[in-house]
Amino acid sequence: MHKTVKALILREVRYKEADRILNVLSEEGKLILKAPGALKKNSKTAAGTQALVYSELTLYESLGKWNVKEAVSLEDFKGLREDITALSLGSYFAEALEVFSQEDIPDSGLLRLGLNSLYALSNGLYSQEHIKAAFEMRCMCLNGYMPDIGKCAYCGKEEPESPFFSYENGKICCRRCRDAAFGLYADACRESLAALRYICGAPDKNYLKFSVSEEAQARLSNICERWFLYNTDKNFPTLEYWKKIKI
Ligand SMILES: [Zn+2]
Repeated sequence: MHKTVKALILREVRYKEADRILNVLSEEGKLILKAPGALKKNSKTAAGTQALVYSELTLYESLGKWNVKEAVSLEDFKGLREDITALSLGSYFAEALEVFSQEDIPDSGLLRLGLNSLYALSNGLYSQEHIKAAFEMRCMCLNGYMPDIGKCAYCGKEEPESPFFSYENGKICCRRCRDAAFGLYADACRESLAALRYICGAPDKNYLKFSVSEEAQARLSNICERWFLYNTDKNFPTLEYWKKIKI
């Protein structure tokens, strides 16, 4: 049996002499594939089975497993391979997508988020902090962790002064309303809160189209990362590496 899928290669691992085992995110969900001979000299599937490439893969089934017969690169996100910080942040996105994608469960929103984020990163459309914060928050929203940031959780004020964001419960509150029950929190501000609301509510294509000052970006980055890490409860070595090498 044969089939063709379009997929983002999340991870590739060498297997035996010249094969690759791939974890990919396709329109059908996560797939684990073998690419026999992908690492052989002059292999036609080498380029299309590299990590962080979006490819059209022709697959054949053998002993209940899918193998790659042909791989045509549709988008290779070239900019990632020319900048180690972009590459390491892209690898963090891939690691996150692997955590949230499931086998046999299609999730076109997650695939689109991955492709749009890598494209923006590869082409330097926004700062890496901007793309990272939006990726983390959108990833959370797509996976059932939409924060509740419409108004102060205590007094109901829609534009709280110097608000806090609780990354324990995803709510916001005014500085003066905060009490011990609010949970673990990060500082916000009007600007970072506006950006946060934008990211959560924007259509798929436009979720990156906001602008914030450097100061508000730092708060936004802190909020999005904490919300993401608190809910995934996982260490991401690729994130640690990006933090080490970014200027
Ligand atoms: Zn309040």
